[in-house]
Amino acid sequence: MQEIRNFVIIAHIDHGKSTLADRFLELTGTVEKRKMHEQFLDANPLEREKGITIKMAPVRMEWQGHVFNLIDTPGHVDFSYEVSRALAAVEGAILLVDATQGVQAQTVANLNLALKERIIIIPAVNKIDLPLAEVEKTEEEIATLLSIDSSGILKVSGKTGAGVEDLLRAVIEKVPSPSAKFPAGDSPLRALIFDSLFDPYQGIIAYVRIADGEVRKGERVRFMTSGENAELLEVGVFSPDRTSKESLEAGEIGYLATGIKEPEKVRVGDTVIADNISDVEPLTGYREPEPMVFASLFPENQDEHDLLRESLKKLKLNDAALVFEPEESSALGRGFRAGFLGMLHMEIVSERLRREYGLMLTFTNPSVAFRVKAAGEKIVVYAATKMPESHELESIEEPWVEVEIITPPTYFGALTALINDRGGTIVSTKTLAGDRLLVRFEAPLREIIIDFYDKLKSISHGFASLSYEMLGFREADLVRLDILVAGEKVAPLAEMVPREKAYFIGRQRAEKLKELLAKELFAIAIQAEVEGKIIARETLSALKKDVTGYLYGGDRTRKMKLWKKQKRGKKKLKETGKVKIPPEIYLKMLKK
Ligand code: GDP
Ligand code: MG
Repeated sequence: MQEIRNFVIIAHIDHGKSTLADRFLELTGTVEKRKMHEQFLDANPLEREKGITIKMAPVRMEWQGHVFNLIDTPGHVDFSYEVSRALAAVEGAILLVDATQGVQAQTVANLNLALKERIIIIPAVNKIDLPLAEVEKTEEEIATLLSIDSSGILKVSGKTGAGVEDLLRAVIEKVPSPSAKFPAGDSPLRALIFDSLFDPYQGIIAYVRIADGEVRKGERVRFMTSGENAELLEVGVFSPDRTSKESLEAGEIGYLATGIKEPEKVRVGDTVIADNISDVEPLTGYREPEPMVFASLFPENQDEHDLLRESLKKLKLNDAALVFEPEESSALGRGFRAGFLGMLHMEIVSERLRREYGLMLTFTNPSVAFRVKAAGEKIVVYAATKMPESHELESIEEPWVEVEIITPPTYFGALTALINDRGGTIVSTKTLAGDRLLVRFEAPLREIIIDFYDKLKSISHGFASLSYEMLGFREADLVRLDILVAGEKVAPLAEMVPREKAYFIGRQRAEKLKELLAKELFAIAIQAEVEGKIIARETLSALKKDVTGYLYGGDRTRKMKLWKKQKRGKKKLKETGKVKIPPEIYLKMLKK
């Protein structure tokens, strides 16, 4: 068996992981020059459009007698579940830091995830080709962060390729071969499923890391948790496309084509064993993802409810952080309540459902989970519309997070104002090597999850970065804010807001909705309501349609007649006509 090295590239978003992976693919001749394009491993059209990685991507490379399994990872905080699963499948990590940006919040957060897995960290400064690169300063920051000497830190450019070969040599030298961790022998097969996807021809493709033994094409295997078994249609490696092999051995990363069509039977985190074997311990799986924000989704067309369920299941195969369960709404029909790791995650899921499964959906206002006591009972409430009436409510608790921000000191004033505005409290500030500030504060997750990141980027001209962790639940004084259009509550727009800010927010929402809604032939009242009281009102004026246009000249009486007729028509419309709210309005309302 050839010597294997399994490693990931981790970094803050945009520090150059996918570009470095390109250079490795080139250097090792894994991708032919003529087929090469930038951020090769960002294969999903959404990744290419947005210029970010949302999925981990494994690839096998061979170079100078060694086999490498590299996993490129996403950098955005919403996809840390991908990073943690990738980390559990490897023995080493390249920690990349952009020399023009320095250590950022996800540099620290991802490093901490890697340290938990006890794998080898190889730090490297990237983008040394840029005129603004501050290589030495960045080296110092990394040295302080890792408590190491800065002399051993490699310097590379994913753009020009400088230092890339040395970096791969460092991987060979420093990252142990998996055989050290999992000694070969005749131990029976155990493989960890770290990702999967649905293939219309081969069913579920399980991405696996073989821990013990080997697995062969045509072999019967069993999935320990689900108890399901399958005869493997194919086994193989990512090079970078799926390439079939006769077998996979301990230490290797590859895929198993299971032929299974039901997504619930093959789960990420499950252990695959040989079907004829019983006394095997399962491998350590993954902690369940912890959704931060919940929203309900309803198909525009209620006939597509089953399609939505099947689509969500298939999507979950490829996005293990997605959780969902059925839900019904009197206003919107049958749908699902889904949990997401953040707003970008929610946006990506919504886009993938639209593009990959052709579904048009209404998303309700995202909400955190509240712990509520009402009428003597304790319940968890995931949406403002499900909040008990105010006279029944005894108490509401909401989740708080600890947020870490790394920022140049000049923005500290603006940041403090923003934190205060969001009901947060600063816990500590610390100057990092290279003279930037690390600010820690606590705040309600509700204030952070929707648009805090965008606000932070705008006040710091893009220079500040953030990460956060759940702290627990704390008592809150919140009220439900309803939005009414033409006298009817618009369920997806309900939200929980701090009592003292309800008037202000109510007015904001009504104004915004007025801007977004198209005019109708009749005037529309847009109102905000709290505890049965209207607290804000806007009127969207009627669309003026000239019904007398064809009557030129001065026949005033005929014009009057037509105007009267139009007025009667409008009154009728007003009585019967419901205002149709297009689904894209809901997502637009969120961009506060
Ligand atoms: P990722 O989010 O960490 O995967 O970062 P990407 O690989 O997508 O790179 C983010 C941006 O930085 C892209 O515009 C790249 O072209 C650019 N980039 C990456 N590495 C380098 C480098 O070494 N030098 C320069 N000048 N630009 C780089
Ligand atoms: Mg990337």
